[in-house]
Amino acid sequence: MTELDAAIDRLVRPIADWPEPGVTFRDITPLLADPVAFEAVIDGLVLLAEKAGPVDAVLGVEARGFIFGPSIALRLGVGFVPVRKAGKLPSTSLSTSYDLEYGSATMEMHVDAVVPGARVLVVDDVLATGGTLLAAADLVAQAGASVAGNLVLIELSALGGRERIGAAGCESLRSY
Ligand code: AMP
Repeated sequence: MTELDAAIDRLVRPIADWPEPGVTFRDITPLLADPVAFEAVIDGLVLLAEKAGPVDAVLGVEARGFIFGPSIALRLGVGFVPVRKAGKLPSTSLSTSYDLEYGSATMEMHVDAVVPGARVLVVDDVLATGGTLLAAADLVAQAGASVAGNLVLIELSALGGRERIGAAGCESLRSY
C-alpha cells in the first residue's frame, strides 16, 4: 500500500447507512481539511489524468467534482466545465436524467461549454454505479465532443460502475 493509499484510508470516513440504510457514504471532508493529503491527492489525480492523453477541458460533476476538477484543470492548463444539478445554470443548457446509488437526478451543462470535437476529462469524487459518469458522457456527446477519460478519487468496485461505463474506462486513486 502506498503512502497515498494509507492517507485516503485514514482521511476518507465511511459513514454507515447515510443518506439512507444500506449505503456506506465515503466522506471526503477530513481529507479536504488536511492540506498535505489534499495536495497529494491532486498530484495523484493529475498523474492519472495524463493517461487520458491531451484533453481540451476538464468537466466536474456537482458537487464534489467541483472540489477536485478545477485544480486538475489548472495543472493540465485547460479550462473547467461545471455540470450542475437541474435549474442552476443561467444560460441555455443541455440536460440528461440518470439514476444514482440512492435516488435519481437530472444534470445540465451549458450548451456552449464544450466545443464540438473536444476531448474532455470527466472528474468526480466517487464512482459507485457509474450512472453519474454515464450522464456526464451523455452531455458531452450531446455537445458533439468525446470523453477522453473518467477520473475519480474512489471507486466502489462492488457496485459495478466500471462495467457499466465500459470502453470509456475510469482511473481511480483507491478502490474499495
Ligand atoms: P454513481 O452515479 O452511482 O456512480 O454515484 C456517484 C455519485 O454519487 C458521485 O457524484 C458521488 O459523489 C455520489 N456517491 C454515490 N455513492 C456514494 C458513496 N457511497 N459515498 C460518497 N458519494 C457517493
